[in-house]
Amino acid sequence: MTGMTLIAFIVVVLGVGLFLFRAIPAIRAYFTYRGKRLITCPETQQVAAVDVASGEAAVGAFLTEPTLRLTECSRWPERETCGQECLQQIEVDPENCLVWNIVSQWYEGKHCVLCHKTFGELHHLDHAPALLSRDRKTVEWRELRPEQLPAVLADHQPLCWNCHVTETFRRIHADLVVDREPEPKRMM
Ligand SMILES: [Zn+2]
Repeated sequence: MTGMTLIAFIVVVLGVGLFLFRAIPAIRAYFTYRGKRLITCPETQQVAAVDVASGEAAVGAFLTEPTLRLTECSRWPERETCGQECLQQIEVDPENCLVWNIVSQWYEGKHCVLCHKTFGELHHLDHAPALLSRDRKTVEWRELRPEQLPAVLADHQPLCWNCHVTETFRRIHADLVVDREPEPKRMM
């Protein structure tokens, strides 16, 4: 190896090393900041649902540190010119304001109000669990607007997906469903 190629080799190795060194915080920022979040809007003191530009946060983290900016808010487009002060709440605790984590924590350890099955942690590939209202209507949590979730969770009972399907069928085909008492076992 000549002197020049050796220097070129060292430069390439250092470059790759530096790239990987910066790529790790960038990837971490991307996964930390993606997803729908619930914050308390500093202007209204009400819940709002927001999205952070996770790609931009990753680029920021690659160069120096993650720069946070909203790409969506449930109060937009009316309030699109707001100062995005809610970003502070996300910066302080990015995990606990993530909708997925809020819902997962709410279900975990609770029991289905009808079949008493215990809920574990939420999984993306599973059927979404549902909720039962006071007037016995069922809804999958994913069908709700995220900013409605805190109020709905406070007012509904947890329902597993199977019971949600059964209850929905029962509501739509009320005329077809007959609740039979199980027949008493005959004594021999
Ligand atoms: Zn159930």
